[in-house]
Amino acid sequence: MTPAAAHASRQADLVARASDLFPGGVNSPVRAFRAVGRPPLVLASGSGARVRDADGAEYLDYIGAWGPAILGHAHPAVVEAVRAAALDGFALGATSPGEVYLGETIRAVMPSMEMLRFTASGTEAAMSALRLARGATGRPLIVKFAGGYHGHSDGLLVDAGSGIATLSIPGSAGVTAAVAADTVVVPYNDAPAVAATFAAHRGRIAAVIVEPVAANVGVVPPAPGFLEGLREITAAHDALLVFDEVITGFRVAHGGAQARYGIRPDLTVLGKIIGGGMPVGAYGGRRDLMEHVAPLGGVYQAGTLSGHPLTMAAGIATLALLDADRYAALEAYGAALEAGLRSVAASAGAEVSIARVGALLTVFFRPDAPRDAAEALTADRDAFARFFGAMLDAGVLLPPSQFEAWFISLAHGDAELAATLDAAARAFRA
Ligand code: PMP
Repeated sequence: MTPAAAHASRQADLVARASDLFPGGVNSPVRAFRAVGRPPLVLASGSGARVRDADGAEYLDYIGAWGPAILGHAHPAVVEAVRAAALDGFALGATSPGEVYLGETIRAVMPSMEMLRFTASGTEAAMSALRLARGATGRPLIVKFAGGYHGHSDGLLVDAGSGIATLSIPGSAGVTAAVAADTVVVPYNDAPAVAATFAAHRGRIAAVIVEPVAANVGVVPPAPGFLEGLREITAAHDALLVFDEVITGFRVAHGGAQARYGIRPDLTVLGKIIGGGMPVGAYGGRRDLMEHVAPLGGVYQAGTLSGHPLTMAAGIATLALLDADRYAALEAYGAALEAGLRSVAASAGAEVSIARVGALLTVFFRPDAPRDAAEALTADRDAFARFFGAMLDAGVLLPPSQFEAWFISLAHGDAELAATLDAAARAFRA
């Protein structure tokens, strides 16, 4: 690129330099836009429901920072809370007041989290919850569901969703067979397969980890009775039920999927929204289990930047603005978006199905909504890529993969709904 061209497009210049620095030009594969045949986007700023690239082009945003931005980007209350916290110093290396306040706020909304521990990412939280499950039960095996994504720790990359599904790879190189062998993978929404797994591995399963609404192969809601069945079978076998609510927590209901479906897991994994856009994770649950965590017990887990004061400040400010009315508003936008998309797709003769739970939605390019990862993966990726491109050209930024959820925020209102449906009507025709 000539210097003049670089000057003309700061965006193109940054993409070129990023591609030289970072694998695929990105620091997390889902940002690469490969599956939709586009170069990575460099996003320089965001406010409310909109983000802007490095050249100032503006997009109506449904990536939502991949979940955290439930208030919209740069909400003034969150910005102010972080600014105020920064004046008190960053990580000070001891417990900070904010950890106590945010922990209590989370527990008040999610009472199953009798004790909890903050981490710096969802990956760490899920990995640590499963170490605890093994440590507390003395059993080796974890059951996960095909397409379930629980972060990138070795044992959890087997048959995972998110970028693994987007890139069509079975797992990750670098994971030893020995580690992978301790993870048993079962199809989502398949209760008989879960029962067969417990029968085959009697007394050896420490925990079942599940996204209570699968959201990393696109949105796949739990079939009626599926989560209840997991609760029963884990209890019957003295195994633990771990809900990975990194996406669903504080999103599909104030109290997450466990409140929406009325199931009390033994352990819960959180991330994203509770940090208000700052790096965060948390795991917690039954007090008798959490008492196995160091320094009370023998399950070790730690983090220099865990419970970071700026993260806690952003999380407290975010959760302070969420209540039943806000979830009703998210549900209403989600329902209107779903109905509108169905109608414009039908008018355009597009063969799509739409799956939605609250403020999480996926348009699948297949005639009916999938019940599991295998069905989701049959969706027409090329059709999605064309749809994605047409939406982007119309100023609407979707997650750049068929196998991710659209994230709706409280900054999405009537104008955003109309703009989205207008763009979609044209994109479906294209
Ligand atoms: N669990 C689920 C359900 C997730 O969707 C994700 C990330 N999207 C994670 C865990 C990992 O979280 P993080 O990216 O913060 O490590």
